[in-house]
Amino acid sequence: MTENSDQINHSNEWKTKRQILAQRLVEQGSIRDLKFYMRQMEYSSKKQLIADIKSVSISLRNNNKLLKLEPARCIACGYIFVYKKNEIKIPSKCPKCRQQRIEWPSLRLT
Ligand SMILES: [Zn+2]
Repeated sequence: MTENSDQINHSNEWKTKRQILAQRLVEQGSIRDLKFYMRQMEYSSKKQLIADIKSVSISLRNNNKLLKLEPARCIACGYIFVYKKNEIKIPSKCPKCRQQRIEWPSLRLT
């Protein structure tokens, strides 16, 4: 993975993807699921998205803004995934009904 892939051109000015992600989270305020950010920010892997969200979450916390994760949910049976503290996971399969209709976790800024 190169450092270059971490940057996208944004209004004549080079910012890191993480800075843009942080800005979007603050501006949009409302709850959006991670799929929204994955698509909007053109992430190619969940892993990269999660790494960036973790990093952004730490820098936001230093500015007294708390990024809260609403857990993923199975659309088929309603199962709500359980997370450890500071854990971010995007499951692809429900452990209860084995279906793959998963509503991705959402982020809320408080
Ligand atoms: Zn399920």
